[in-house]
Amino acid sequence: MSRQREALTIFTGPMNSSKTRRLLDHLSEARDALEYSISVFKPGTDDRNNDLNQITCRNGGSWCAIPTPRQKNGISSSLYILDCIYKEKRIVKPDLVGIDEVQFFDQDLRDVVKYLINDHIEVAVSGLNRDFRGEPFPAIESLMPLATRIETLTARCTYKNGDRRSCGAPATMTQRLIDGQPASYKCPTVVIEGKDKNITYEARCLDHWFCPDIPQSRLSSYLQK
Ligand SMILES: [Zn+2]
Repeated sequence: MSRQREALTIFTGPMNSSKTRRLLDHLSEARDALEYSISVFKPGTDDRNNDLNQITCRNGGSWCAIPTPRQKNGISSSLYILDCIYKEKRIVKPDLVGIDEVQFFDQDLRDVVKYLINDHIEVAVSGLNRDFRGEPFPAIESLMPLATRIETLTARCTYKNGDRRSCGAPATMTQRLIDGQPASYKCPTVVIEGKDKNITYEARCLDHWFCPDIPQSRLSSYLQK
């Protein structure tokens, strides 16, 4: 089975858009077709499951992963990936590095991924493209110019209409809810679902994505002149 070598593959989209599923498929294809050795990293902030040494996707499937220590601000250290491979040599240099939930990694991520690519290590990542405010996550935004393949995924909008049926339209946004109500634009960016029981996230289409207190665009005043 032939498989094209990619320098950096990005799987991105809103929550519940099967980003991790696609990443796991990609890793399996590389392992089966090219007999790649693969190492996978995940942020230490991800506590969707209790097994810290795995990444799992919501519709089944899992892969062993190295959790990356988080800093005080809840963001994971990207340099830890280089530490594991080159400094501490905790793992043998792999052919492919997978990174799940890249939105939770710090601003060194771009340089880390560049270093790996230049050292002939293929990289594949998954991550949210936008935060609950609809703003780009800096980590994934910084990786886009390095990518040789980008797969943008959509979910299904879970907004319930008056008849209690879900909207079901393609969802491109991630809605944060606090006690079931849309969260304000002024809330902090990184809050992990489940840690604070009253915070939940849903995939939404643009028509059903709400974010109170969005600051007026500077273009509004430009257009009014
Ligand atoms: Zn909708």
